[in-house]
Parts: sequence; structure tokens; C-alpha cells
Amino acid sequence: MQSQVHVLDTRQLGRPGIIAATVLETSDGLALFDTGPESTFDNIAAELARAGFTPADVRHVFLSHIHFDHAGAAWRFVETTSAARTGATVYVHPRGAPHLIDPTRLVDSATRIFGADMQKLWGRIAPVPQENVRVLQDGDVVRIGSVEIRTIETPGHASHHHVYQWDESVFGGDVAGVRIGSGPPIPPFVPPELHVESWLKSIDKIRALNPTKLYLPHFGAVPDDIATHLDQLEERVRRWSCWFRDRIIAGEDEPQLIQPFADYEAADLLAGGATEESVRDYETADPSFMAVTAALRYWRKYHPDKITDGAQPSP
Ligand SMILES: [Zn+2]
Repeated sequence: MQSQVHVLDTRQLGRPGIIAATVLETSDGLALFDTGPESTFDNIAAELARAGFTPADVRHVFLSHIHFDHAGAAWRFVETTSAARTGATVYVHPRGAPHLIDPTRLVDSATRIFGADMQKLWGRIAPVPQENVRVLQDGDVVRIGSVEIRTIETPGHASHHHVYQWDESVFGGDVAGVRIGSGPPIPPFVPPELHVESWLKSIDKIRALNPTKLYLPHFGAVPDDIATHLDQLEERVRRWSCWFRDRIIAGEDEPQLIQPFADYEAADLLAGGATEESVRDYETADPSFMAVTAALRYWRKYHPDKITDGAQPSP
């Protein structure tokens, strides 16, 4: 059978083109790559219906990582047919699995970041039954009917991040960049696991797969040359992390950096081809204030020697 990929739009907060869930048709039902947040489950069900399917046709859910915009609806795809205990299998990194099975700590830490907006942004969070969770290690291959899905461990955005390869396609997760509308690829720096060196190695791993299609959760298939996309992403990982380092050396702290970084990012997006409207969509997909928390934590934790008074600013 001809396998087919559909990019489903979750219409997060009523906006198109911000969070995708990408589905692959196989001879053993649908494989879904990230689910979107639980709050948009009905929108995904409607998108599936347009393609001739229902949520119960989703037999396999591959998670890039467990942040709520990617994994929040996973439990709904398990629950769909749970009366028969035949809900979807959810595939995840070993360090993500415990938080799917018991999301209490994840909810607590997200509530510290998003506060009263939790419900509006992400909907209801519930556990995924352990028997439906399957842990995947780097290099693991899952055979589904006639297709093979290969797991590639790709930390940087999160320490528990995977991308998945099928044939010449890669389902990229957030480590492969956020790219919205006519804008450029940017790296979503989020706390608490940002690790720049790992991110650069993960970009190299994606390059080595030499994909002809790269699907982004934010948002959809990369529309042009994938090598250029990855080069531009790498350049921003390096430049943005150095921007933060120089400001930490200059003595600026988190509250002082939030607006300057929002302005720096917006200028970078506009120069890279984004419209004013899509700058707001980037902010919805990847709020800029999170990059400030993430980058400060990264430099203080991993390179305290490089942010002291005597440290040299970027070359
Ligand atoms: Zn994301």
C-alpha cells in the first residue's frame, strides 16, 4: 500500500499553522507523530475526519518529547478504545516515559511557567496507562505493517528528545527548529533542559540522515532546501546562545533580558522573512521569555567559568 503523510493543524488558540500533529498511513493503522495539546483534540479529530479517519484509527503515537504542545493529547488516543484495552501504543524516550505514566511533576513545573493559562493552553492532562507506553532507545526500529520507523536520540531542546525517520522522511520534533509562515527556522530555547552542544550534535545527526522531507511540529514540511534550513537553525543556536552569554557577562539578569530578547528575536524573524503577524505566531509557538530562563540556566549550570567578569565576549 502507498504510505501517505498528512500534516494535521491543531489550530492552537484558534490560529492555523502553529502546532501540527503529523500522521502517516500504514497497513496497520495510522502512526501519529506528536499529538498537539489536549485542548485541541477535537480539532485533530476533525482533521482526521477530513482525511477519512477517526481517532480510533490512530494505532501508534510517536512522541518527539513530552512537552504538552507535543504530547498533551497522547492519553486521548489511548483512551479512544480503552474499553477493549486496545488503545494506541505510545512510543517515547526512556526519560519521558515516567512522566507520561504519572504527569504530576510535569504539571507542577508547567504550572510554575504558565500559571492560570494552563487549561486554556493545554487542556486536561491525564496519565497514559503504563501498558500502552513503549520506551524506545536510540537506533530502535519499530515495524508497523510494511513501514519501518527508526528512532534517533536528539537532545538539546529537551534531554529526552527523539526524532523519527521513515524512508526519506524525518519527523523532526522541536530540535529541528520552529518555522512558521514565510519566516526563518529558529531554535526553541526552553527550560529546564536546554543544552547547546547537544543541540548542535543533534542537528548533525539529522543532516546525516539526509532527508528529502522534514516535518516540523511548528509547522509542517520544510518548504525548501533542508540543508539550508538546518544551516540557518545551527547559526541561530550559536548566535542566540552567545547573545545571552555576552549579556550575562555584562551583568544583566533575567527580568532585564526579557524585553531585549523579545525585540532581538522579532528583528531576527523580520530580517529572515517573517511578517509582523507571523512574529506573533512564533511567540505563540515558542514564547520568547522562556528562552531567557533557559539560556541563563544553561550558562550558569554548564559554563559558569565563561560568564564571569573576566570572561571574553563572543569572538
Ligand atoms: Zn513545541
